[in-house]
Amino acid sequence: MDEQYDGIRDEIVENAKKNSVLYMANIGYNKETSVKAVEDAKKYDGVYAVVGIHPENVDDLDDDFKFIYELAKEPKVVAVGEIGLDYHYGGDAAKQKEIFVKQIQIANELGKPVVIHSRDADMDMLKILKENKIENGFVMHCFSSSTEVLKEVLKLGAYVSLAGPVTFKNARSLIDVAKLIPEDRLLIETDAPYLAPEPFRGKRNEAAYVVHTAQKIADLRECSLEKIAEITTRNAKRFYKIES
Ligand SMILES: [Zn+2]
Repeated sequence: MDEQYDGIRDEIVENAKKNSVLYMANIGYNKETSVKAVEDAKKYDGVYAVVGIHPENVDDLDDDFKFIYELAKEPKVVAVGEIGLDYHYGGDAAKQKEIFVKQIQIANELGKPVVIHSRDADMDMLKILKENKIENGFVMHCFSSSTEVLKEVLKLGAYVSLAGPVTFKNARSLIDVAKLIPEDRLLIETDAPYLAPEPFRGKRNEAAYVVHTAQKIADLRECSLEKIAEITTRNAKRFYKIES
């Protein structure tokens, strides 16, 4: 959880559970937030950690990846992420690619799946995914690309996760994406503290709000909210290898 939640973590987790959000993957984006994600996972039932270096944070990184190995050994660390490419906010592209591939290798060595962040980088992302086999599965988090890119990543075995933007008025291609993702590859998320779904757009996001994203996806796929809850829970447990 982001530092915006300092002091109210108990409340955030409680709120989520009150809204039937029973499992949460809490994602780090640098060393400090990865350490915190693991602390939160140890503290709360149903909260798991994902550790990694986000492409926006590669410029100030030394070559010491040991912390990822150390953190990822913790039993409640279920994946390496968010890692990937961001040509909108991120720094040097060559460095982003290098750190991304290195972290894919770490995930493979540790037997963990990968949570991928990709923004304005479709072609380079597809190239890296084709050239570097991710051995334990990957999810395109907060998917925001076209239906063509969706088809490509699905062919490579991706899970695809949708966040608040599918509820926005200008969702455009995400509407088609939400209908096209196969039932056994769909995940949902908050991307908290960002991208709160309608009717909370612009506010600080939190896990409880994911219900609104699920409802919108249910409407688009013409099925019940319960059905979306059931399939995304089942998919997330399979992807992250959560047994209970
Ligand atoms: Zn991201």
